Amino acid sequence: MFLKGKTALITGSTSGIGAGYAKALAAEGAAVMINGFGDEGEIEALRQELESLSNAGALYSNADMTKPEQIRQMCSDCAEELGSVDILINNAGIQFVSPVDEFPEDKWNDIMDIIMNSAFHTTKAVVPAMKEKGWGRIINTGSMHSKVASPYKSAYNAAKHAIDGFTKTIALEVAQQGITVNTISPGYTWTPLIEGQIPATMEVRGLSREEVINDVLLAPQPTKEFVQIEQIGALAVFLCKDEARAITGANISIDGGWTAQ
Ligand code: NAD
Repeated sequence: MFLKGKTALITGSTSGIGAGYAKALAAEGAAVMINGFGDEGEIEALRQELESLSNAGALYSNADMTKPEQIRQMCSDCAEELGSVDILINNAGIQFVSPVDEFPEDKWNDIMDIIMNSAFHTTKAVVPAMKEKGWGRIINTGSMHSKVASPYKSAYNAAKHAIDGFTKTIALEVAQQGITVNTISPGYTWTPLIEGQIPATMEVRGLSREEVINDVLLAPQPTKEFVQIEQIGALAVFLCKDEARAITGANISIDGGWTAQ
């Protein structure tokens, strides 16, 4: 329970990888604010699970990561109700699969706002208190698509490459203030986001569900296994330890060897 007394804010954590981060940090004693959309009952059940894991507070914010005003409100609510943010994980993300010449403008803007611009707004809001305390951890969820590309995901790949540049910049700015800033870049991880893009990929490429899973999703992942949510949570926990204080500005792959090729 080495995170007892610390507060974590995780965007996009009502589901998938974000919920995994929340459980992993709560299991080490952190008070957690979760965020995202979804079924009210399921979100409340997750919130209660987090409280029982941590023996500390757990709160939910429905702030929309496309709305800067709501993002700032979420950060100040977290500071007021749980304590100023010690650990920030920018994780909210959506995907849209389309050739660039047909890519809808509203989808492009949503992906940029949710993945990249929200991370700017949260970081700007929480860094002053981290500087004051002389301790902080900022983790941005990247992707193998923060390092390499696949076709039909122009907005997502652009936003994920941008988050890597943002990570490096902030890491340099706060390097002497006890704050580390890193990107965790998972390969294909079995979550609702992946499940959701199977029908569109079936359509665009004219494939069956099995073919999309084995011949598209897992084809470039050398282990031929999906990354597990718990493995990503464990990496985030390690980055919060004192032993990880020299790791900053890094983009750490957890991708079954995807980007080694
Ligand atoms: P997911 O769909 O399970 O979770 C996405 C979360 O973001 C949910 O909590 C959702 O409610 C939230 N969200 C979406 N739009 C939002 C908005 N406007 N405001 C606030 N919250 C919003 O997906 P996931 O697979 O767990 O993805 C989490 C992160 O991991 C994303 O950044 C994604 O790009 C990244 N990632 C996923 C994979 C993968 O294979 N699943 C691989 C690499 C990177």
